[in-house]
Formats: sequence, structure tokens, C-alpha cells
Amino acid sequence: MRYSFLVFENGSSYLCQMPMELTILGTSSATPTTTRHPSAQVLCIKNRLFMIDCGEGTQLQCMVHGVKFQRIERVFISHLHQDHYLGLLGIITTMNLNGRQEPFYIYGPKGLDEIMEVQFKWSSIVLNYALEFFELKDDGFQIIYDDEYLEVQSFPVKHRVPCWGFTFKEKSPFRNMKKGVAESKNIPIEAFKFLKSGEDYTSPDGVVFSFEELTELPKLSSYAYITDTIYLPELAPKLRGFDTIYHEATYLHDMLPKAEETFHSTAKQAAEFAAIAGCDTLILGHFSARYHEMGDHLLEATAVFKNTLIAEEGKSYAI
Ligand SMILES: [Zn+2]
Ligand SMILES: [Zn+2]
Repeated sequence: MRYSFLVFENGSSYLCQMPMELTILGTSSATPTTTRHPSAQVLCIKNRLFMIDCGEGTQLQCMVHGVKFQRIERVFISHLHQDHYLGLLGIITTMNLNGRQEPFYIYGPKGLDEIMEVQFKWSSIVLNYALEFFELKDDGFQIIYDDEYLEVQSFPVKHRVPCWGFTFKEKSPFRNMKKGVAESKNIPIEAFKFLKSGEDYTSPDGVVFSFEELTELPKLSSYAYITDTIYLPELAPKLRGFDTIYHEATYLHDMLPKAEETFHSTAKQAAEFAAIAGCDTLILGHFSARYHEMGDHLLEATAVFKNTLIAEEGKSYAI
């Protein structure tokens, strides 16, 4: 089986140690507990930082676990329940006090911009840096950010208020040389940049070097974040083959009626989702405050999907 995850104690060093690395900062649902904080996590992709949800106290969690939030480039907010965005204003103002100059990009539901504007207005805050807000669209999978190395998509899930999940897919403009091939084919040095860029190379004496024969696509990481939703198995095939899926597991399955009433999922349903998607690793989070330890969640989920982890605050997971 392909190696699928690594767990680092006490957060990562940021520089991330793997191409894509997830640090969990909050695993609680609506109310925090003395050991669990509201939803927040940071994805480090090639040493760029992206935040997903930002519950109350997230900046403190960043400090405790060594996440340099001044370096966060973009934040993705799933929905406007308070356990998913109340920390955003705190981070924005601390970054301002600490002299941030770089723009900060926020992707979230309609109304989040208005919530922030009201707070800026009544506290007379003028930011040193630009805030750019992008409203999420309720229309299937949408590419909301795209560059040479990364594609981010949003997709609606089903909750009591409009709510979105996010996918993060690593991209690479370059192909890798197949192991051992360069030596055996006597490839001229000047050919490499063409081959790695996906172009054939013809040498001055007419020998053609085919990029398809000599190179391969690199292994690229992918991560999906799904929180605050009723069980949506129809969504799972769209995430087929993802490396890691984070799925909310607010309740155990004996509380299915409560999960359905509040538009949440159970640990068993999260595992069924992962099994349909065929991902490598499932991470469970967004636990109800009624649970003090997560052993039963793990048992319930692993009965369906073996490679399940319980999200732990302050730990980083290689994806
Ligand atoms: Zn929530
Ligand atoms: Zn919610």
C-alpha cells in the first residue's frame, strides 16, 4: 500500500516537511471544551500557508502550535456558524498591528464581508493591507483559486445554513525524469528543460527524445475538507482518489436522528463516505462537546474504513 500519512508532534516547523502538510488547530463542534477548540486548520503547500475555517481563538492556537499566521496567504471559510469564523477578525487585526503589508484573501459565504465591515466601521480600524473578499457560489464545483502549483475548488454541502467544502489539488508545471532512463539514453543536458516541460527534443544530429517515453507526471497531493453537513454519499465519487479527506463526525451513529435533525454526520457515515471516495486516509473532526474521548469514533469508523485518524489539535499530517 502506498505510504499515505505521517504525523508530526507539536505542529510543524513551517517550513513544511512535505509538499502538502495539514496542521489541525480546532476539532470541536459548536461549543469548545477545555481540550478542544472550534474549527480551524492550516494547509502548508510548498511553504505557502492556507487557512481553512477560523473559529474563536484561532490566533492563540496558531501561537501555541507554532503556526506563523502572518504568513497565511488565503483563508477559506465554510459557513457562517460562529464556530467557523469568529477568530477571523482577531487574526486580521493582529496581522495589522504586526505590520502586515501583503494582501489577505478571504473566500467565504455572502455576508461575511458585511460582518467584517460592520466591525471595522464601529472600531474605526483602517488596515495597512488590502483585504480581498471572494463570495462562494452555490453552483456545484467551482475553481476559486488557481495558479501554477495549486487548484482550490469549493462545493456546496447540506447544512442548516449555506455551507461549502473545499478541495486542494497540488499541480506541477514540470514532469519528472523516469528513474534510470536518462543514463541509459544518453540524453544531452540541453534536452532536460524541454522534456520536463512536456516537449520533445531533437538534437542537432536529428535524434528525437520523446518526453512521453522519458518522463512521467509527478505524484501530486490532494486534500478535501468537508464539515457541517448531513451525509452526502452522492458527493463522494467526485472526490475519488483523493489522498486525504477530512470529514466531520459530530456524533456517533447511535445519535443518527440527532445528526439528521441538525444536519451533521456520524463517524460511521464519514467512514462510508471515505470508502466510496476510495481515499487513502480519512481524518475525523468537528466533535460534539458531549464526547470526552474519541476512541468510540475511531472504532466505529475503522470498522468501515480502516485508514481513519482522529484529528488532534497541534498535530501535522503529511498528505
Ligand atoms: Zn460547526
Ligand atoms: Zn454549522
